[in-house]
Amino acid sequence: MDKKVYELIDSYRDEFVQMLQEWIRTPSVKGEAAPGAPFGTDVRKMLDRAMTDARKLGFPVRDFDGYACDITLGDAEDRIAVLGHLDVVPVGDGWTKPPFDAVIAGKRIYGRGANDDKGPSLAALFAMRAIREAGVPLKKGIRMILGCDEESGWEDMEYYSAHEQIPDIGFSPDAAFPLINTEKGMLVQELRAPESGTGLKILQLSTGDRVNVIPGECSALVAGGEELIRRTEAYAAQTGLPYKAELADSGVLLTAEGIPGHSAYPEGRRNAIGMMLLLLKELGADGPVAALAEAVGMESDGQHLGCACRDEVSKNLTCNMGILRLENGEWYGTLDMRCPVSADQEMLKAQTAGHLPGFDITVETQKPPHHVPAESELVTALLAAYHEETGTEGKPMSTGGGTYAKVLKQGVAFGALFPDEEDLAHQADEYADISRLMTAMKIFANALIRLAAD
Ligand SMILES: [Zn+2]
Repeated sequence: MDKKVYELIDSYRDEFVQMLQEWIRTPSVKGEAAPGAPFGTDVRKMLDRAMTDARKLGFPVRDFDGYACDITLGDAEDRIAVLGHLDVVPVGDGWTKPPFDAVIAGKRIYGRGANDDKGPSLAALFAMRAIREAGVPLKKGIRMILGCDEESGWEDMEYYSAHEQIPDIGFSPDAAFPLINTEKGMLVQELRAPESGTGLKILQLSTGDRVNVIPGECSALVAGGEELIRRTEAYAAQTGLPYKAELADSGVLLTAEGIPGHSAYPEGRRNAIGMMLLLLKELGADGPVAALAEAVGMESDGQHLGCACRDEVSKNLTCNMGILRLENGEWYGTLDMRCPVSADQEMLKAQTAGHLPGFDITVETQKPPHHVPAESELVTALLAAYHEETGTEGKPMSTGGGTYAKVLKQGVAFGALFPDEEDLAHQADEYADISRLMTAMKIFANALIRLAAD
């Protein structure tokens, strides 16, 4: 890459950090819709700030009625897309730093959105600025689209694409380096079955409210006394799993302690609903509970549902029961499967139904996988940029999560977390390493030059 581009990027550091601080200090959690602010006035303020700053940096900017904005470099109609987002998830518990003060400690800048996705988005915008100020001749345009609803329903991209043509090719700096070229398909099924009239009597169970969360705790109230407590303790000792049982007013309260997480990343986690199903079966539950214990249990790979599968580009299928409730004599549960590119989702549905007889099963969400070949021009150009700026060879990766990359015909997730960095997106004490963001800026500039320069 041209020496001039490096010099410019190095000269931006202070200005970049100050601007990022202002972005982090503008909390942009989704709120109630208002005129011109479909995701609430806080998100609207963030959108206004980003548009003002982009204009200050010398770019033409357009507002898409509070859903998104776009920022354009170059006149060519054929464009490369860069897709980021300005909204953030709610703060949550456990912070030791103020979440919206953009405190700098050492090389880190702390705050909700520092890494997901304000830091990476702003780094990409400064990369566009360096390309412009260095006078790099472009044969393609570059269009950054900053959405305001990535963390919720993606209505921003729906609105944008209804009003403007989205480029075919590009990347989303909203995940990790080196690059993610495979996003698994998604199949969420809802299960319903009448409760059993025999076996262990379950009085109450209601765990989870999101299909894509691995529940961290599950409790159940069951009919019985001391005997059940003794058997629960024996089962806990036998399995080494953290179960508790105590006498309650109307029976025994059972608790299973899991390890919470995101459904797409079950490694090192433990589904508390799965634990509870196994315990309930052990204590004499039959019918739907026993069937779920056998077919799902604590497995995260769909093995006993007949759904386990994998391929080289996607790795293995993941399966998560995020919700289980007993309501008005009926069991209701959800299965969130993230499916390899090669998986036949119709077959997965048939297998699920075959392994859970007696359940009424409906599809809540079904999304195809997204894959850009490793040999494509896009992937090879981005990996070459990553290699040139870091000295490291990168291999394309797969994810069970989703990014805006799949909005593009040929889109990949690219940055900005480096392989050795901890991922605190959506967690307490989210931060971005400023030096790493400056490196990311160089990688983005390098990549965009490869894709768009004359
Ligand atoms: Zn994000």
